[in-house]
Amino acid sequence: MLRGSRTLSPADAEKNVIIKGWAQEIRNLGGISFLIIRDRYGLVQVTAPKKKVSPEVMSTLTSLSRESVVKVTGVAKAANQVKGGVEVIPESIEVLSPAASPLPMGVVDKVNVEADTRYDHRFMDLRKPEARAVFEIKSVAHNLIDQFLVDEGFVEVFTPKIVASGAEGGSTLFQLKYFDRPAYLAQSPQLYKQMLMSTGLDRVFEIGPAFRAEPSDTVRHVSEFISFDGEMAFIDSMKDVLDIIERCTQAVIKGLESRVGPQLETLNTTISVPKAPYPVIEYKDAVDMVQGAGMKLELGDDLGTEGEKSLGEIMKEKGHDMYWIVEYPEEAKPFYIMEKDGTPYSYSFDLDYMGQEISSGGQREHRYDRLVERMRKKGLDPESFRFYLDAFQYGMPPHGGWGLGVERMLQKMLNLSNIRETILFPRDRIRLVP
Ligand code: ATP
Ligand code: MG
Repeated sequence: MLRGSRTLSPADAEKNVIIKGWAQEIRNLGGISFLIIRDRYGLVQVTAPKKKVSPEVMSTLTSLSRESVVKVTGVAKAANQVKGGVEVIPESIEVLSPAASPLPMGVVDKVNVEADTRYDHRFMDLRKPEARAVFEIKSVAHNLIDQFLVDEGFVEVFTPKIVASGAEGGSTLFQLKYFDRPAYLAQSPQLYKQMLMSTGLDRVFEIGPAFRAEPSDTVRHVSEFISFDGEMAFIDSMKDVLDIIERCTQAVIKGLESRVGPQLETLNTTISVPKAPYPVIEYKDAVDMVQGAGMKLELGDDLGTEGEKSLGEIMKEKGHDMYWIVEYPEEAKPFYIMEKDGTPYSYSFDLDYMGQEISSGGQREHRYDRLVERMRKKGLDPESFRFYLDAFQYGMPPHGGWGLGVERMLQKMLNLSNIRETILFPRDRIRLVP
């Protein structure tokens, strides 16, 4: 029997089995040797009493180095004293790939390894079940988002990541050489998903990389992250967008609760579905609330990390993990956001999760003249956005959308201290390798 998608159980007793995996632990006690093999699904103990196994098996076991990749053929036996209730008596052991020693870092050692050492040897770090579990959860989350939006009539799209202009402010653009011209890595699919609103693909989404040259080192910023973007046409108001995101985040977290039980157990954590409907807080009320909590903040200011945290605590007390902050000052929002006429505010929103922004969006300015006006107001040259503006001149429906940081959401949901734990090979100001 070849091990498939599970660990051995007592029900496998007396079966012939083939186990493939990494030699996590080897103990040679003279008369008997033990080998703990680890694979994606768990651990299996191979027990080799000298009297019952061949001399070849014994000599392979005594010379085996930790973390080598092995293939063991043998018979499963019920064993009460063994964790999992089953062990394997080996008939043969083949070393598929020997591991050099010493190891660059331990896999099971209890000692605290520095984060840098872990990320330098990420292939080794990811052998730890708790490091790996996050990525199994991330994969299911992606799957659940996909499923929800497709059911809602959204089309998954793939927009270019090499672009001629950014949308989220010049300071975080990565420039690159594109043949003989300068180009940039896309900060978001913003301009492209909006252009699609003029095509008839009236509901689109994309889950893909976004690049930002973030100047500061924080536990929630990296230079390359996965952005879950959506855009929908013919909306009546921003509420239509909030409704989709609210139902989507609910579906994803509920879906995860039922589909990644073992991974959550490995991480020694549980997740809870945020109470819905998510409260809607107007920006100016959010400022009031944060001021009331003793923070110095003026109307018009960005809430900032501390403001978001403080609001998170207030909302937690009221029993809410997710909540909207809407109608930010138009001045604080990008050119493509629609102004709320007669006020200094805009049809914009953030979705905050336990004191941290995870998504931003709003109703877009679809009226050509107003859009150009807003670009000028922001000091941008409309001519450098001509390819985008053209799409607004020949029939552009009212529309709105969002960008949601998948890793930010996972970080909060799984209570991880650093967003980097949710990224296989994180990129930041310092880290470009591996
Ligand atoms: P922040 O103010 O927290 O830096 P932002 O407002 O600049 O975020 P947006 O342009 O609104 O970010 O991007 C949409 C979403 O993408 C954010 O809500 C966040 O979840 C995610 N995001 C943005 N920048 C990063 C980053 N550097 N690393 C990880 N996720 C990010
Ligand atoms: Mg934002």
